[in-house]
Amino acid sequence: MSAAAAVRAPDPTPGAAQIALQGIERVFHLGDSVVHALDRVDLRVAPGEYVSVMGPSGSGKSTLLNVLGLLDRPDAGHYLLEGRDVTTLSPDEQAQVRSQRIGFVFQSFHLVPRLTAAENIALPMVLAGIPAREREARVQQALDGFGLADRAGHRPDQLSGGQRQRVAIARATIMRPAMLLADEPTGNLDRATGDEVIRLLEELNAAGVTLLMVTHDAALGARARRRIQMEDGAIRLDETQPGTSPRAGVADART
Ligand code: ADP
Ligand code: MG
Repeated sequence: MSAAAAVRAPDPTPGAAQIALQGIERVFHLGDSVVHALDRVDLRVAPGEYVSVMGPSGSGKSTLLNVLGLLDRPDAGHYLLEGRDVTTLSPDEQAQVRSQRIGFVFQSFHLVPRLTAAENIALPMVLAGIPAREREARVQQALDGFGLADRAGHRPDQLSGGQRQRVAIARATIMRPAMLLADEPTGNLDRATGDEVIRLLEELNAAGVTLLMVTHDAALGARARRRIQMEDGAIRLDETQPGTSPRAGVADART
């Protein structure tokens, strides 16, 4: 395919969408008023893409990410994840898919306060029933890889913001997910620390993990190959940088 054709086509690998949203609606009722947090959203994302999601506060960015991460159920529409309709799954089945395929990183880290860094990172593997010996090996590898080796026994309140977010990213990727969803991951960090966290996320993407990142920072958003702008629950702009294309067919990093 020529570069020009790649630029024209919104999805260069239409047969291989990892994420396909069709007519997704999410409606909240607040007293008498109705908020269309997601208003018939269609979206296709190929494996390995790097997508930034921007837009004003209240435009539906977090709701979109929560639906993609199976943390919230749409009121209408379909969500095909790797070709499978996940909107009709039971909560237990959704939890299974989430555990195996999706990593989520939050602005406020969401670590378990009374657990150490190592225990927070191990948590998804405990829930997935991975044997202790393998857990320990993978936690050690993650601690080393994320520059946290000397923080293994520290609880979140004994860690800096950047360290907390690194623990959160280690936890989000310990099950080797195919996609990483990050909702303003640098929103609680200073610029230098935030840049480190972004580089970490970008390294994971370079290794093949699909990355969708919500940010209100235009400079950060501009680093992504593909940029989505939301407004009033809808995607208003969806542009892929010319001359680049998402890598296809690399669903799992480090496998
Ligand atoms: P963003 O992340 O872009 O700031 P959100 O997705 O959080 O936007 O919210 C989109 C809209 O949906 C907003 O109007 C917000 O007030 C509303 N909303 C989001 N979550 C809820 C909820 N749990 N209950 C009621 N309204 C909500
Ligand atoms: Mg938000």
